[in-house]
Amino acid sequence: MVVEQEMAEIYPPDPEDLSAYLPETDCGACGFPDCLAFAAALLEKKASPRKCPDLDDDLVGLLDSIIVLEKDPIPYNIMMEQVPCELIQVHNPDDSAPLLVTANFRETVRIMQMILEQTATSAFLLPTYTHGYSVDNAVHERMFKAIEIWKAIQDNGVNEKIARPVLVIPGLAEAEKNSIRQLTRWEVLVGPVSGFLVPLFLMENGLWLKKDR
Ligand code: SF4
Repeated sequence: MVVEQEMAEIYPPDPEDLSAYLPETDCGACGFPDCLAFAAALLEKKASPRKCPDLDDDLVGLLDSIIVLEKDPIPYNIMMEQVPCELIQVHNPDDSAPLLVTANFRETVRIMQMILEQTATSAFLLPTYTHGYSVDNAVHERMFKAIEIWKAIQDNGVNEKIARPVLVIPGLAEAEKNSIRQLTRWEVLVGPVSGFLVPLFLMENGLWLKKDR
């Protein structure tokens, strides 16, 4: 008998979310009726970002690299496998690189690291203690806590590594924004729900640093 493997959500980008990073002028120059249709075609690998004349080279490069990322769901049987809450440095970030806070579920960290590496994004990634819950489950179970983020920042000496105290939390954790800001005294930006869109979010907010600048 074949037992079907249960899979968990990884929140791949949807066309609406992706189109928010396009010019949204619906000019049609790409051959699609509007930016939303173009975004859908990009995600289905049926169009190249180069077809939009209003995207600069860095944005085209990011879109190219995001489109090809593996977006396979996570098997349920590895849920709650944890990693240590140790600061991960992706592509040798300097003190102007962004700080991304996430859960300490092994797969969440692996996927975020893969996204940053394959999009040539230089950043600090900080897993914080959520008992190994993924971000969505941690938020649901009230395990994505300001106190754990504060502790991880202290334990890893993050203040000494980053010049501007700005951190980015996952979009799913938006409700925790104020408590994190109050406890850490860091500016808190709410990133996208889909981790695959994080590099685009960083670029939009002037925080995207390409590796080996
Ligand atoms: S060319 Fe660019 S701005 Fe115009 S519809 Fe296509 S994606 Fe949107």
